[in-house]
Amino acid sequence: MNISQSTSILQPLNHIIYPLRNYQAIIIHPDVPGGRCSGSLHIDTLAAVFSSDAFTYKIPLSALNISAGGAGNRFIFLKNESQSQISIYTSDKAILKDPVLQSDSQFSPQINEARKTLGSLITGSLLVVVLLLGLIGALYLLKDKMVEGLASRVPASWERAAGDKLFNALSLQYKFIQNDSLKKEFMRVGAPLFKQVEKEGYPVSLYFVKDPSINAFALPGGKVIIQSGLIDNAKSWEEVMGVLGHELAHVTRRHHIRGIINNVGIYTILAATLGDVSALAGTFASFGGDLASLSNSRTFENEADETGWDYLVKARINPKGLISFFETLKKDNQSKMDTLVNKNVDLSFLSTHPNTDDRIAHLKKKQKETKGSFNPLPDTFADFKKKLLNKY
Ligand SMILES: [Zn+2]
Repeated sequence: MNISQSTSILQPLNHIIYPLRNYQAIIIHPDVPGGRCSGSLHIDTLAAVFSSDAFTYKIPLSALNISAGGAGNRFIFLKNESQSQISIYTSDKAILKDPVLQSDSQFSPQINEARKTLGSLITGSLLVVVLLLGLIGALYLLKDKMVEGLASRVPASWERAAGDKLFNALSLQYKFIQNDSLKKEFMRVGAPLFKQVEKEGYPVSLYFVKDPSINAFALPGGKVIIQSGLIDNAKSWEEVMGVLGHELAHVTRRHHIRGIINNVGIYTILAATLGDVSALAGTFASFGGDLASLSNSRTFENEADETGWDYLVKARINPKGLISFFETLKKDNQSKMDTLVNKNVDLSFLSTHPNTDDRIAHLKKKQKETKGSFNPLPDTFADFKKKLLNKY
């Protein structure tokens, strides 16, 4: 051990003058109180020199071994090959480019090896980043599933409260047609369909609204609002029930609730999924009956078409009414549909996506696969239409 050898700022090496570089370092040495201390490290032409206020230690270049290691392979270790219990280490990777070490070819293999070890750390970090990104991606892919799972855990009371808030908001803009006998007639005709929905825990209640828009929508909990324009533009009970089947499927599939949950952040969704659905209580409490937040996605529309179709088949109501309603609309009322679509009415039966042609094509495919017989609905639609439209 060499103690207290003075070091000059410049050291000669093979007649070339290198400026000395200093690296922050720590030494592990049995003679140091506590077994280790920090100081500075430099390489001169003869040795790697560690020095602190009270302690100096040199590893002759002939015995010097360089390697990368330590926690996460983040450090460069300098060891004396003949004194294995002693080592100096630094986190300053610049030491691998030290001019003295660079100029001495005996260190090249060790330096290359150390770089590789450090490189694997970078590769490792990259891998962690890639894995994290993958995890976040998977989280987003799983989001729909999580939202669906959460929606099924939302208490019925929250759902009713959200439906009531929406209903109150809509009540301000709509003029309801109050007529119990028309309502009763509609309920009677649609009874087999409504029974399917009630089986899933949603009692159906109807509201007719004086509005020329060709539209109907159902609210969370089972309230259905039918605009007079829908009745005016339909040709049969089957067509109207086709639309109602679709709308009620939005209720039973809890699309509005899923829409509300979808609007909170992914972390809240994750927290509620892993923990308790009560994490969403605030979201529902602050839901203000905002229609705009509930526009239905393509997935929801397709799901509602599918499920609504299945309800009609189970109710023995011919589901092709939905197809013929779309076709009637397309043929006779393209301009009306365009205005509707342009208005982009939220929650509307005719949303901008998916487009009507896609829906017709999909339903026709479903029609081919559908087996079973249907009970014709009463021949009273024209009469019903006249009575309802006379109400305004
Ligand atoms: Zn819809």
